Amino acid sequence: MAQWQRDWDSREEGVKGLFTRNLFPKASRTRCISNPYDIQVATNHGLCPQYLRKFNLLDCSCRCGEDSEDDVLHFVARCPILSHLRQFIKRDTTSLQILMQPHLRREMRKILHFVHKNESVVFQMNT
Ligand SMILES: [Zn+2]
Repeated sequence: MAQWQRDWDSREEGVKGLFTRNLFPKASRTRCISNPYDIQVATNHGLCPQYLRKFNLLDCSCRCGEDSEDDVLHFVARCPILSHLRQFIKRDTTSLQILMQPHLRREMRKILHFVHKNESVVFQMNT
């Protein structure tokens, strides 16, 4: 555990896992995040235009055009296209709040499920 914590603490900008380390600064054996949508929020990696562009998988962006940072949290907390799915999650709701509060987590899963099922409606090609 001490070695894991030292490795976790020594991560610097540009190193994998920094987003997650900022959410969970303490290494823990009891924390287990296994739901695929929860993992996307905990890592900010998942089915979103920012991620697809970063890995040259698809040159696309969110159809709303309101946020060049069209990452996972864009869809969960900010995208106006998905506002009809949002009741509790607000623009300033943090990833940690979403993961730790059951009603926010349920809402986030519903939103990301919608994005996955309606990718062609939410994403637009850039070319
Ligand atoms: Zn959007």
